[in-house]
Amino acid sequence: MSDISILGIFVADISFSGSKIPAVGETILGDKYNIGPGGKGCNQAIAIARLGGKVNFISKIGRDSYGDLAINSLKKNNINTENIIQDKNLQTGVAGILVDKKTGKNAINVIVGAPSSLKVSEISNQINLIKKSKIFLTQLEIPKDVTLHCLKIAKNSGCITILNPAPASEISKEFYKNIDYFTPNETEAEFYTGVKIVNENDAKKAAAKLINLGIKKVIITLGDKGLFYSDGKQEIYLKAISVKAIDTTGAGDAFNGGLAFGLFKEKSIKECLELANKIAGISTTKLGAGDSMPYLEDIN
Ligand code: ADP
Repeated sequence: MSDISILGIFVADISFSGSKIPAVGETILGDKYNIGPGGKGCNQAIAIARLGGKVNFISKIGRDSYGDLAINSLKKNNINTENIIQDKNLQTGVAGILVDKKTGKNAINVIVGAPSSLKVSEISNQINLIKKSKIFLTQLEIPKDVTLHCLKIAKNSGCITILNPAPASEISKEFYKNIDYFTPNETEAEFYTGVKIVNENDAKKAAAKLINLGIKKVIITLGDKGLFYSDGKQEIYLKAISVKAIDTTGAGDAFNGGLAFGLFKEKSIKECLELANKIAGISTTKLGAGDSMPYLEDIN
């Protein structure tokens, strides 16, 4: 029980920052671009590793130039890449990201590539690793049968399981029983519960619905408003930290990474949420997703 395993995807994020997100048919002259690591799983892995956590990243990529970018950037961040399957017949994923530098808001098109063909039969070594981990963190960018299989294995082996249910998509009831921490943002929370989240009271209602489905602990991230936590008894609402956000891509990933690291360190739930909130807030002050994750010295 020594480390954190993450099942997720890597994509090369190509971000364009400008004074607005262009409308359909419009061309603008932007002012900055960044090509760097992205994909929710990869970003979460980087967030944890930069805090000093030991991360196994379980994924599938192509054997192409973006595949090299994946391995190099993960290694540079001290992430264990031995459990990444590389397939010469498949493409590494790419995401095109348009950022409005005034608000930090974005529009994204992700081409998942190689991991969309990931199968349970390919990952027996990786499954053994999950069994030995203290924390298992995943999202919904990997095929769902693989994700559910790994969540079940993790739960049965005594791991703390975290599902960041993004991008929002239908999941079976079986998922809910195997999740300790469920971390949707506002839009995702609305997708899973039907409750439109405008204020703290709506977040409470949505969290209560999710707990009724069998999830143990729910954290709804509320963008620049912060977050709401509930385990059915204790409720915590935290305001976001005050920063000048220039790119919010990956904020949710920074949050999930911070949460996983806090839980790994056996901090109290309040401390875990404070850490995650801080890391996520700081990540919005830099362009990029994986590249915007703060280091331990940035948060002290
Ligand atoms: P996602 O990136 O998944 O859409 P959110 O937008 O809810 O998720 O952001 C996740 C977390 O990032 C928030 O709970 C908050 O801690 C932090 N965050 C997001 N936007 C800002 C902001 N403008 N200022 C400070 N913190 C922010």
